[in-house]
Amino acid sequence: MDIDFTPEQQRYRRDFRRWLNENLPEDWGGPAYLGPDDADENAMMQAAWERKLYAAGYQGVAWPKAYGGQGLTMVEQLIVSEELGRRAAPEGINTIGKELVAPIILAAGTEAQKKHYVPRILTVDDIWCQGFSEPDAGSDLAGVRTRAVRDGDSWVLNGQKVWTSFAVHANWCILLARTNPDVPKHRGLTLFLVDMKTPGITVRPLVQITGRQEFNEVFFDNARIPADMNVGAVDDGWNVAVNLLGYERATARLYRQARFMNEFEQLLRKISSRPEVAVNAHYRQQIGRFYAELGVLRQLNLKTVSRIVNGDGIGSDASVVKLFWSELHQRIESFAMEVLGADYVADSVGIERFRYNFLQARAVTIYAGTSQVQRNIIAERMLGLPR
Ligand SMILES: Cc1cc2nc3c(=O)[nH]c(=O)nc-3n(C[C@H](O)[C@H](O)[C@H](O)COP(=O)(O)OP(=O)(O)OC[C@H]3O[C@@H](n4cnc5c(N)ncnc54)[C@H](O)[C@@H]3O)c2cc1C
Repeated sequence: MDIDFTPEQQRYRRDFRRWLNENLPEDWGGPAYLGPDDADENAMMQAAWERKLYAAGYQGVAWPKAYGGQGLTMVEQLIVSEELGRRAAPEGINTIGKELVAPIILAAGTEAQKKHYVPRILTVDDIWCQGFSEPDAGSDLAGVRTRAVRDGDSWVLNGQKVWTSFAVHANWCILLARTNPDVPKHRGLTLFLVDMKTPGITVRPLVQITGRQEFNEVFFDNARIPADMNVGAVDDGWNVAVNLLGYERATARLYRQARFMNEFEQLLRKISSRPEVAVNAHYRQQIGRFYAELGVLRQLNLKTVSRIVNGDGIGSDASVVKLFWSELHQRIESFAMEVLGADYVADSVGIERFRYNFLQARAVTIYAGTSQVQRNIIAERMLGLPR
């Protein structure tokens, strides 16, 4: 594992840092750091930000130039992610496109799919959602029951998805559907690229505990899509989906470490002048511990990137990283609530972000595989414990 940055990489970081200083939305980092409350306005702001990053050459950093990327490596991708996290920059509306769909199309798609869809993710001409989870298929993803039945030159889709982030703004969906019900459940699944404007698709927004509307229910009622919209082989969707989820767990949240550090330092600025914090040994220990753990998280990120750059698979390490960052995030947000005390519930300016982050952090140990599922993977595949 090599964790040194070359002089060129350090220069790349400095250049991007300067670009961010000059281009972040005005007042970013202040009370308005989440962007507009209105979901449509927020989506427009996020998309505009992603287009600006793309125009400056800071999107698709490690993707091939042939498909609109910058042709650099995961190290430059890590640098961009860290700098975005350091400023808690807007996360974007097309995260599913960038973190899941493009990697899977680049790995398993046809040449025509790569040429058409990948650049459009970068330009935000297409916004993607991920239609995997169903009311009875979350952790047990292989239990997916949405059916895709071949009919002449089409597939006909019927079923329901849930917790589909961004679906209300997305014009495309990567869908996991059952194409063969007569084989064991891990087989007979296929991944499809589905135009969300297809007649027979209905999206119903869900409001989260944060008060924001980010995920949705999606219903398929005899929705007919062209026959060539599968990505990867028919009935091989489980393999493709599992590869995709491993990638999501390992790389998608590289910016989080720097973002958590940003939030943690915001908290320290709020509490450092309070005498009760200085004299409280429990608080002092917690603060030291969080600094150390955020340092560990960065090393885990560097290890992941180093493995990818060296051509090694990510494997079950992805579960260690996912488990660690998600549970650390929740502990930091709980600490914020504890140490801010009465201010936490009072409506004082500058505290909203901690309240929002506490609620939002409830989700991180659920999406991309729950903590229990990560522990199962670590126990069985890394430690060789019995099922
Ligand atoms: C904010 C957010 C965004 C999301 N976005 C998307 C999206 O865009 N697209 C999408 O497809 N999905 C999305 N999801 C869904 C997410 O992937 C699922 O919620 C997750 O996989 C868990 O599935 P479930 O909700 O059905 O819970 P269940 O699988 O029913 O789990 C319920 C509880 O049982 C535990 N459990 C289940 N199986 C086991 C086991 N074998 N061993 C031990 N414990 C177990 C779980 O850990 C959990 O505590 C999102 C979820 C959230 C919270």
